[in-house]
Amino acid sequence: MNVQTAEETAIQSLAGDAIARGSDGRPVLIGGECGHCGGQMFPRAPVCPACMSEDMRPLELPREGIVYAFTTAHVGPAHWHKPFMVGYVDLPNGVRVFSHLRGEGLRIGDTVQLASGELGRDADGMPIMSFVFQPVERA
Ligand SMILES: [Zn+2]
Repeated sequence: MNVQTAEETAIQSLAGDAIARGSDGRPVLIGGECGHCGGQMFPRAPVCPACMSEDMRPLELPREGIVYAFTTAHVGPAHWHKPFMVGYVDLPNGVRVFSHLRGEGLRIGDTVQLASGELGRDADGMPIMSFVFQPVERA
């Protein structure tokens, strides 16, 4: 039987099947890989944007990347915490992910890692969760 925590259920409500529990038990983004040309992407698409093949497979993506660009938004959905940061993270396999970001003093070029984050609270006070990238904390 597959048992999920309340947090995992909430995360999946916004991120859908883009996030899952990886083979090592930690959350991981699921992108796509083309079985014909090997192209990798996020989010996963039913047809390869490079070669139009429909031989697409789910692919666990690397959890760390480099901030390519980001911005701070002061206007957004009614129940989201504001301001919030969104931007692009370049993963080492060449995939560029659009994501929420967090971190005091975040800069382009910073190394960031996948985490889960609360984007806001819905009308019932329940957390609205999704994936975020945040600065890597080295011990
Ligand atoms: Zn392809």
